Amino acid sequence: MTSSSNSFLLIIIFFISTIIISSSLASPADDTKGKHSTHWNYEDQEAWSTGYQSCSGNRQSPIDISLRDVQFDEQLPNIEFVGDFSSDATIVNNGHTVNIILKNPVRLVGGGLDGDFRVAGVHFHWGVDRFSGSEHTFNNTRLPLEMHIVTYKESGYLDFSEAAQGINSLAVYGVLFRQVSENNIYLNPLVNVLKQASYSSKPILTKGPLNVEKLLPLDYDSHYLRYFGSLTTPPCTENVIWTIAIGTSTISEKQLNEFRNLRIVDVAAEAAAAGETTAAPKMISQMKLDPPKLDHNWRWIQDKKNRKVRSTVTLDSQKFQNLNLVNGRNDGNNNNRARGFSGSLVIFAVCQLLFW
Ligand SMILES: [Zn+2]
Repeated sequence: MTSSSNSFLLIIIFFISTIIISSSLASPADDTKGKHSTHWNYEDQEAWSTGYQSCSGNRQSPIDISLRDVQFDEQLPNIEFVGDFSSDATIVNNGHTVNIILKNPVRLVGGGLDGDFRVAGVHFHWGVDRFSGSEHTFNNTRLPLEMHIVTYKESGYLDFSEAAQGINSLAVYGVLFRQVSENNIYLNPLVNVLKQASYSSKPILTKGPLNVEKLLPLDYDSHYLRYFGSLTTPPCTENVIWTIAIGTSTISEKQLNEFRNLRIVDVAAEAAAAGETTAAPKMISQMKLDPPKLDHNWRWIQDKKNRKVRSTVTLDSQKFQNLNLVNGRNDGNNNNRARGFSGSLVIFAVCQLLFW
């Protein structure tokens, strides 16, 4: 073959491999995509706004936080969780994450919030490796885990689902975790029961008290960032006051793998199988014996659209660099499309070796 026909063939192979890899990444997790408007998945984030209009709104989360967006705000007072954070807890695999339901009431108070906000649940976002998982990023660096303590405004709302419809009526405290070699012992009561939650949304009691406060950085009350955003999952409602800790918690690779081994359980089909809905036969037939792994559940970075991020402390570039980046990697706006593209490059390189 001449070198020009070689080049032409390689270009064709490059584009075909791009198409093959993109489509293989598109929907391995949920073959019911499109059949049920209530079903959504992380492979198909671009489609979220079709069923949930807010997902393409103007104050979406998560965002990348870069130093130039951060403004020191001396008016931001301390924020703290008040209540018994160290009680036994229940965990549930809801098919999108693992959610912790606390036994005793805990409230988020101060922080310039309009009233007290009650904790509704605590959940996590993670990824397939140490370079992916957190939803928020600092200077485009993604860490392997992010914890969200979801709270709702108590006054004026009966419960979480009512507050979820309100204006700035939800507040989420987020903490990023970096990977270290030692286990975080405070995660053990949760991590040790994740296997039991792998294949079922059945509530599981934690192994002993789970003290969520120990998962927060020591100075979480005085060192934080604040911006206005949304839920990071459908319906992406734009009523969330975000607080992000300046500082991180830690987790080991072994502990991260327990999260990655959870499965995408079909909660609706499980409920149907338990006879809780009349659609039972149809739903049971859709239940999968070997559901896909829930090994990544983070949303892509959303456009800031001129939003500012306020900080309780002044941050220079050195301090900012040191926030959490010990184990991070700068990956830009990392997403699945980028993975598909780099996969194509690998095939392209292999083809080059074969043809020359
Ligand atoms: Zn979340």
